[in-house]
Amino acid sequence: MKKTALFPGSFDPFTNGHKDIVIRGLSIFDHIVIGIGYNTAKKRYFDIDMMVNKVKLAFEHEPNVSVEAFDTLTSDFAKLKNAKYLLRGLRNTSDLEYENTIAQANKYINKDLETFFLITSPEYAALSSTVVREMHKYGVNIDKFLPYNLS
Ligand code: ADP
Repeated sequence: MKKTALFPGSFDPFTNGHKDIVIRGLSIFDHIVIGIGYNTAKKRYFDIDMMVNKVKLAFEHEPNVSVEAFDTLTSDFAKLKNAKYLLRGLRNTSDLEYENTIAQANKYINKDLETFFLITSPEYAALSSTVVREMHKYGVNIDKFLPYNLS
């Protein structure tokens, strides 16, 4: 059976670190759905439809990756996409603590949904959407952190 994983996140913006997780995830999963979520706790900086289009461009030569926005519970969106796996990235122990809580919650909601974690590649360990966003706010060019051009 085809193994589909959902890679959910705010992706505000989607960075080279996120892309690296997807590319490496493709050696484990047949198909990866990148789900750009409206996180109720975070007001977005980059428009979600613009981000969907940019991430689609970044994977235009990769038929086993699709990109969609969603505004439901992650586990409901996974079910809708027939994804039995969630893919997430880990950079450090803070990520681990946060991801542990989220993974336990998702497991509670749907016991058949397994979360897989990939440790960040060292070159992306310090790359965070929050920092990239802050740089952009203050006029710093952030293109080298992204797998697409913003302009
Ligand atoms: P969320 O707001 O849902 O935490 P993010 O968009 O910040 O989503 O991140 C999505 C996932 O990608 C998370 O699992 C996060 O830990 C992971 N991630 C973020 N940046 C990197 C990076 N540079 N390298 C590897 N994984 C990363």
